[in-house]
Amino acid sequence: MAEPAQRGATLPARTAVAVVGGGYAGLSAALTLRRLGHEVLVLDAERIGWGASSRNGGMVSGGLKVAAGALESTHGPVGARRIAAAAAASFPFIEDTIAREKIDCDYVRCGRFVPAWTQKHYDGLAARADFLAEVTGMPTRMLPRARQHEALGSDHYHGGMVAEASGSLHPGKYARGLARAAEGAGAVLMDGVRVGGITREGDGFRLATSAGELRADAVLVATNGYSRQPDGGSAMPWLARRMIPVGSYLIATEPVGTEVIDRLFPGRRMISDTKRVLNYFRPSPDGTRVLWGGRASFGPTSPEAAAPVLHGFMTDVFPELRETKITHSWTGNVAFTFDFLPHIGVQDGLHYAAGCQGSGVAMATWLGHQAGLKIAGAANEPFALDGLTFPTLPGYKGDPWFLPMVGGWYRLRDRLDRLVA
Ligand SMILES: Cc1cc2nc3c(=O)[nH]c(=O)nc-3n(C[C@H](O)[C@H](O)[C@H](O)COP(=O)(O)OP(=O)(O)OC[C@H]3O[C@@H](n4cnc5c(N)ncnc54)[C@H](O)[C@@H]3O)c2cc1C
Repeated sequence: MAEPAQRGATLPARTAVAVVGGGYAGLSAALTLRRLGHEVLVLDAERIGWGASSRNGGMVSGGLKVAAGALESTHGPVGARRIAAAAAASFPFIEDTIAREKIDCDYVRCGRFVPAWTQKHYDGLAARADFLAEVTGMPTRMLPRARQHEALGSDHYHGGMVAEASGSLHPGKYARGLARAAEGAGAVLMDGVRVGGITREGDGFRLATSAGELRADAVLVATNGYSRQPDGGSAMPWLARRMIPVGSYLIATEPVGTEVIDRLFPGRRMISDTKRVLNYFRPSPDGTRVLWGGRASFGPTSPEAAAPVLHGFMTDVFPELRETKITHSWTGNVAFTFDFLPHIGVQDGLHYAAGCQGSGVAMATWLGHQAGLKIAGAANEPFALDGLTFPTLPGYKGDPWFLPMVGGWYRLRDRLDRLVA
């Protein structure tokens, strides 16, 4: 991960729009609001960009984590298509943002390869490849197992799908660049200010923060996988009750040389497989190392303990890396939701943008922008992820006690899928 830059400032007494959370969503909202002429203050409890936005794998795509069939059964065929199209639009949006704001973040439209864990998964990918091409407007194609080496230097999978609507970037550089763009447009960004509670006051809001009180006409909460603090506190408990924070883990190998990288990653695409407990992997942005990510554990685990687990997953796929050393290991929280959809909306007057299901480089940027447009009253067409019913579980407060059980069940099903295939 790249360390975010440090920022300090004095908390003003009031602002027009307060954004809680300085990740891609909060920063993108701030940029949009400033471009529309609104005063914005972004507060992060740690540092701007400290959360998932500087820790992720840098894979850029606009997909959803919910199967088309499930989406249709809840939202109907028309609603499902609108939601898929709204999600897919995040990809051209992030590409435009990077180009327009001249963000130096090693962005490449490299495409993605989705290797199939079983033949059945391959058939499932083939069945939705055309739909994906239609909603993204960019081609997809299937590579059967015999041609898998055109996209991946491994025999571990059953072929897979190449999707062109996908890219790669350096996540820390992107977070810094987005922050710089927002600041350049006039947003004020503050590190180390934790928002403890938000209450209505007249037409606006009073925010109790670790740096004193702040008044704001409007508030956007963009705290995603960090919505619930370890002590149980939250800027917006209603949102925390709808977020399922899940630890995602990443390792980087020592430099392996471009010849190995080109053999393992022909085309240098982003890779994420079809397992329920998925592996995602790629060459590092400078093309010298392998970055390998996954759910090393569903309980609290240190990056040190996660590293050998991920190394094991990696060498299952790339046996030639068995002797390759791990030089870096880190973790961060992604946020799942109970309907597997990202959401923006308003609750008790507070705007929120959250729930990217571990796939939020493009999506969080897009949700933040949409929330910014909404706050500014500048959205000129409805956004399909805005104001959807946002489910939770009775009694759930944001502490996902059930994850070890659900994660264990998903892992078991992955194993069974392969056994019966
Ligand atoms: C290891 C890992 C790998 C990933 N890989 C990918 C990938 O390859 N591709 C992809 O698309 N997505 C990936 N993701 C997901 C992606 O990084 C996230 O979806 C995205 O960064 C979310 O951005 P955000 O702005 O919503 O939240 P975050 O970046 O998490 O920001 C939330 C911020 O809120 C702040 N905050 C919380 N509470 C308060 C409070 N009370 N007061 C003030 N501030 C507060 C936190 O300090 C934090 O900085 C990955 C995530 C992780 C962790």
